[in-house]
Amino acid sequence: MENVIIIGTGPAGYTAAIYAARADLKPLILTGTQPGGQLTTTTEVENFPGFPEGISGPDLMVQMQQQAEKFGTRVEFAHIDRLTKEDDGTFTLHAADKAYHTRAVIICSGASARYLGLPGEEELTKGGHGLTACATCDGAFYRDVPVCVIGGGDSACEEATFLTKFASKVYLIHRRDELRASKIMAQRALDHEKIEPVWNSGIKEYLTNDKGDIRGVLLENLQDGSTSELAVEGVFMAIGHTPNSAFLNGLVETDDNGYILQKHGTRTSVEGIYAAGDISDTEYRQAITAAGQGCAASIEVERWLATQEG
Ligand code: NAP
Repeated sequence: MENVIIIGTGPAGYTAAIYAARADLKPLILTGTQPGGQLTTTTEVENFPGFPEGISGPDLMVQMQQQAEKFGTRVEFAHIDRLTKEDDGTFTLHAADKAYHTRAVIICSGASARYLGLPGEEELTKGGHGLTACATCDGAFYRDVPVCVIGGGDSACEEATFLTKFASKVYLIHRRDELRASKIMAQRALDHEKIEPVWNSGIKEYLTNDKGDIRGVLLENLQDGSTSELAVEGVFMAIGHTPNSAFLNGLVETDDNGYILQKHGTRTSVEGIYAAGDISDTEYRQAITAAGQGCAASIEVERWLATQEG
């Protein structure tokens, strides 16, 4: 029986592990299918405090893992399919070929940015080749070049507006002729001189140069089916995120989209289960905010376990 198992190895998970290990809770952290989380798909991270020169996303995650392990965290590669609560108040985490038993759980399984599902997306996102889902992270790498944002929600408008600080031009490509975003954010984007909406359109293909970097997109007009090339060097996906919460199977209360609802601090609707990072954050989604929540969750678990011991 473990004291606490942390699910997910992004900034929330590793920060929770560092705090839990230093509190002598001997935490076990399970990696999930994407060890290191979303940051392993970005290149340079320039907004995580403490790294004035910037640090690559994968390097930052390796360092977090080393810091967690230094204090005794055990890291295991496992993907949890189901989480159940037992009659004695403990929890069982079910992986394909193993079950884990624990008194407390910190869920840091994150959210995954949605992509269009077009060929080449995996390679284009991994090596900084021009496809990303985070303007805050990667916008500054696109100075004085044209870029595009896909989507019509608040994220798309926010990202497009943010990108005007760097890019020479920002095309806002949306599949309809009306934005879903709140009026104020939509208006701010549409009023900006650098932003040009491209209505009723979708991306059919990413166009790359001989280095494999994006040089443009093949657009499809969804009304008449015609296609045209648009020259851009960065494509910013903003078509929503999917929280990685399917394994909860209704055990913990979530919102309609599957994000875990935090009740007080990082507590969830189930005593002994805590949530930190993007799995319960539709608002900020930053490495540093996730790390802060991981810290909070760990402190709350430590206090809660102490009360259980009577
Ligand atoms: P969202 O509101 O779900 O919008 C997703 C957008 O992507 C929609 O315009 C949708 O088009 C489009 N889309 C979805 N699938 C697509 C596909 N396969 N191909 C092309 N387009 C596709 O997601 P979000 O903008 O990330 O916002 C999520 C939540 O966070 C919202 O509640 C939002 O208000 C909130 N948020 C708030 C702020 C803020 O207040 N500062 C900032 C960001 C996000 P349709 O419109 O045609 O469905």
